[in-house]
Amino acid sequence: MDTFPTHFKKNSILKFLPLHPKKYSRKMSETVENVRCLIIGSGPAGYTAAIYAARADLKPVMYQGLQPGGQLTITTDVDNFPGYPEGVKGPEMMEEFKKQAERFGTDIRFGIVTKVDFSDRPFKVEADDGKTLMAETVIIATGATAKWLGLESEMAFRGMGVSACATCDGFFYRGQDVAIVGGGDTAAEEATYLSKLCRKVYMIHRRDELRASKAMQHKVLNTPNIELVLNSIPGEVLGDSSGVTGLRVRNLQSGESRDLDITGFFVAIGHSPNSEIFRDQLAMNGMGYIETIPGTTKTSVEGVFACGDVQDHYYRQAITAAGTGCMAAIEAERFLGS
Ligand code: FAD
Ligand code: NAP
Repeated sequence: MDTFPTHFKKNSILKFLPLHPKKYSRKMSETVENVRCLIIGSGPAGYTAAIYAARADLKPVMYQGLQPGGQLTITTDVDNFPGYPEGVKGPEMMEEFKKQAERFGTDIRFGIVTKVDFSDRPFKVEADDGKTLMAETVIIATGATAKWLGLESEMAFRGMGVSACATCDGFFYRGQDVAIVGGGDTAAEEATYLSKLCRKVYMIHRRDELRASKAMQHKVLNTPNIELVLNSIPGEVLGDSSGVTGLRVRNLQSGESRDLDITGFFVAIGHSPNSEIFRDQLAMNGMGYIETIPGTTKTSVEGVFACGDVQDHYYRQAITAAGTGCMAAIEAERFLGS
């Protein structure tokens, strides 16, 4: 049986409430809509949930948010999603996800969910198109956003040598020299990953001590082709029309700058889950990731499911997001049928 730690607040009304628009007794304005399955977010997790929910006849309604298609729409080649032996462009792949979700009747809307109330079922959800939705089940697939340094040159070369995902893009820099910024577990893990593909990896950190766990630090320190550049921050990404050609790094103690000859620059200074609107409604960990019962997508409120990067700080891949999207839809269907 699924169990949540006892501190999790359970939804007080757990009785299934069938929603037939004409019979539903609550007085509603014209902008109130009843929905069996509401999906928030249109990345790999959201679209996969939509495909499964639509095929299960849950008549899903999806709000796409500010970034229709999600994070993959800001990348070029996706080479690790099964089914595309020659690779695929991120935006193109997400267009295919969308078409497949539409084929089975998903009601896809351009808009943002602005407020949720999960204290009672059906769940009350407000969107920026003025609609209030009364949802029997909600699937949250709002993803996460990589943190960036905020440099103008970093923005200019994004997708042309600057990346926030070594697992995704490291392959393109085989045999080359690259740099990564960050001192946490992600940076340490990604530096180690890159060291197996690249000739040299500069790991730049703003302090003299890494934040990463001792085990990860040990790996970094024992990898001969990783050079630690401590007490330093990237000042500017250098490049031309072919992409990144170098990185100017400033030592915070001496004030001196040094140019590194690199062709790839990875930013690994953390991610922020897009979970702000669910704060105070759902159990989250200290970093704001929505907590789910291990091995499921069930959140601390019955009938609300979370999938993809918004509940996963560890894998953060399109395929894992899609996998949990599938799980969320199946769990929503079984919840409604139980
Ligand atoms: P996301 O893709 O983040 O989508 C979140 C969705 O939620 C968006 O549509 C957004 O508009 C919506 N949303 C957010 N808030 C709201 C709201 N309030 N209301 C309505 N909608 C909302 N992974 C790979 O497997 N292979 C790769 O090659 C790869 N390359 C990458 C390259 C880059 C540059 C980046 C940034 C990531 C890459 N990833 C890659 C990681 C991959 O993109 C993510 O793991 C995946 O997109 C997560 O999917 P998701 O559906 O959970 O969320
Ligand atoms: P993190 O722990 O928050 O580390 C972010 C790193 O980036 C820190 O070293 C930080 O420096 C640096 N940083 C932040 N903003 C910066 C800026 N503007 N300029 C320069 N440097 C900046 O993030 P994370 O590494 O992604 O890890 C997130 C969580 O996931 C952690 O709990 C981690 O343990 C966990 N995780 C675990 C594993 C694993 O167990 N294998 C793998 C990955 C992640 P400071 O140190 O100076 O603050």
